[in-house]
Amino acid sequence: MTRRLWNLSAGPAVLPESVLAEAQDSLLSLGDTGVGVCEHSHRGKAFVGVADEAEALCRELAGIPDNYRVLFLQGGASTQFAMIPMNFLTSDATADYINTGAWSKKAIKEARLFGNVNVASTGEETNFSTIPASHSFSDHPRYVHYTSNNTIFGTQFAAEPDGFSDDAFLVCDASSDIFSRPIDVSKYGIIYAGAQKNLGPSGVTLVIIRDDLVEAGNDQLTSMLQYRTHAGSDSMFNTPPTFGIYLMMLVFRWIRDNGGLAGMGTRNRDKAGRLYDTIDRSSLFRATAAQAARSQMNVTFVTGDADKDAQFIAEATAAGFNAIKGHRSVGGMRASIYNAFPPEGVDALIQFMDEFENGTT
Ligand code: PMP
Repeated sequence: MTRRLWNLSAGPAVLPESVLAEAQDSLLSLGDTGVGVCEHSHRGKAFVGVADEAEALCRELAGIPDNYRVLFLQGGASTQFAMIPMNFLTSDATADYINTGAWSKKAIKEARLFGNVNVASTGEETNFSTIPASHSFSDHPRYVHYTSNNTIFGTQFAAEPDGFSDDAFLVCDASSDIFSRPIDVSKYGIIYAGAQKNLGPSGVTLVIIRDDLVEAGNDQLTSMLQYRTHAGSDSMFNTPPTFGIYLMMLVFRWIRDNGGLAGMGTRNRDKAGRLYDTIDRSSLFRATAAQAARSQMNVTFVTGDADKDAQFIAEATAAGFNAIKGHRSVGGMRASIYNAFPPEGVDALIQFMDEFENGTT
C-alpha cells in the first residue's frame, strides 16, 4: 500500500484507519451478504440495519432526547443554509445570526432571501480571530444561528451563545466540530453538519431537529426541502447516500469504542493543547486566533513572513504532512486535527516544527 501521509486536510478529512479497512472489505461484501455495501437496495434488510444502527449510535453518543429526529440528508451544510430560513423565516420575521466568518456569511446570505436578518454580533473587525463576547439579539427572533467552529479562521465557541428570547430556538452549523466533545442537544432546535470532517465522507449531512420544528416548517415547499418529508420517511424519501451513512455508522462505532464524546473531548483538548503550547513557546510561529477563541479542530498559525511560511509549507509537505497550507483569507498554516487525526501525528508535527525552527530539518 502507498504510505499514508499525516493528513491535516480541512475537509474532506482524515478518517480512522480501522474504519477504512472495514469499509474496504464491505465494498465487496457487506458482512456475509455477498453484496457490496454500495450495491444493496436502500430498502433491503441489510442496509436498513445499517441506517438503524447509525441512528441508534448517533442518539446514544450525543444523548439525543426522544423529542428530536436524526436525519441523514444530502446537499451538504450549504443546503441547510437555505433550508432553515426557507422553512422557518418569513418576510415579516427576523432571524439573528452571529457572524464568525466565511461560513456564517454564506448562511446569512441565504437567510436574507427569505426574511430579515439581524447580525447580532460579528468578528469582522479582527478578521475573525476572535469570537464575539456579547451579542445584540433582536427582541423576538424566530431563531438564533451560529457556527460553532470556524474552519477557515481557526476559532471555536467555548459554549453555546445565550441571552436571547425564550421563544427563539438555537440553530448550530456544527460542520467542523460535531461530536468533537460532549454536547447538550436539548439546548438546540437544530444542529446540522456536513459529514466530511468528523463523521464520514462528503455527500451526507447530519441534521438533528426537534419534533415541533419538523411540524412547524413551511409546508408549501417542494417535498425534498421540507424536514417533515425526511422525518416521515426515516430519511428514505428518495435514495439516501447509502455509503456515507454506512461509513458514518462505522465512525460512530469508532467514537463509541474510544470513549464516546467525552473521550473525543479529552483526546482533542490534549492534541490541540500540545500543538498550541508548541506555537506559544516558539519564537518563530504565532497563532492567528485569539487565545480564548482558539479552535481544537483547526489550528491556524503563521511565522509573520510569507516567504518563511511558504518554505515551512514546502518542507512540511515534503516530510509527509498533507494539506497544511492555510486558507488564502488567513494565510500561513492550518493544521486540521479532527477526531480521527491521531495523537502520534500531532507528536510528529511538533517535532517537525521544532526541527524547522532550529534549522535541523
Ligand atoms: N460550514 C462550515 C463550518 C464548513 O466548514 C463548511 C465546509 N468546509 C460548510 C459549512 C459547507 O459545507 P458543505 O460543503 O457540506 O456544504
